[in-house]
Amino acid sequence: MSEVRVGLVIEDDQDIRELVRVVLSQAGFDVHTASTGSAGVTSARELNPDVITLDLGLPDIDGFEVARQIRKSSDAYIIMLTARAEELDTLMGLEAGGDDYLTKPFRPRELRARVEAMMRRPRASSDVKSAPEEADPEMIHNGLAVSAGSRTAILNGTELKLTRTEFDLLLALLETGRIVRTKADLARRLRNEPYDVGSYVSDADERAVEVHMGNLRKKLGDSIQGPRWLETVRGVGYRLAPAANNN
Ligand code: CA
Repeated sequence: MSEVRVGLVIEDDQDIRELVRVVLSQAGFDVHTASTGSAGVTSARELNPDVITLDLGLPDIDGFEVARQIRKSSDAYIIMLTARAEELDTLMGLEAGGDDYLTKPFRPRELRARVEAMMRRPRASSDVKSAPEEADPEMIHNGLAVSAGSRTAILNGTELKLTRTEFDLLLALLETGRIVRTKADLARRLRNEPYDVGSYVSDADERAVEVHMGNLRKKLGDSIQGPRWLETVRGVGYRLAPAANNN
């Protein structure tokens, strides 16, 4: 792990900005900061950070819009920091492109735990240290080709721009096929926990899975009624849609 990881803190409150900067520095990041939304969007484009903490209440552009702007050029892991515990805000934040969120006031060690869980998830093929001859199993389902090694998803010759969270959810369904994955199971998968440890998953965590699945469905152009990939099992979770006959 000699590669330097870059963190970006977008926060207008100086005290919180400094607190988050210290937490990320201690987690081994080369940390940059921005105190406005527009500066944050510019820094995200220039620095290509691995992780971004994004305050939702910024003086110039609101945090949701900042997330949408950043998502145009970045697959960084975005943790949204919200002053309000309202579920609507967090769901809107995830819809706008956030991966995770924390409500202020938060404990530094909580932020550190989120960041470290994220770092255990590979980002791209260059991060994966595997023997060159080791096969990269590519999975193809209804015309969608997904490679776990290079973390790419290709549909009709075009690589989809998925966030890490979206990619991990897609991969989880491809791996288990027609077996139903519960939302709690998928939430644990996103924390990089084995699915049988039974750790606590809140309602909000399950809502977050629903929002990420919705975003993924949009990017795939998949339909709820006649899914090609993401089949919703009402009240339970998700599974891979069956293979189409004409495929
Ligand atoms: Ca603020």
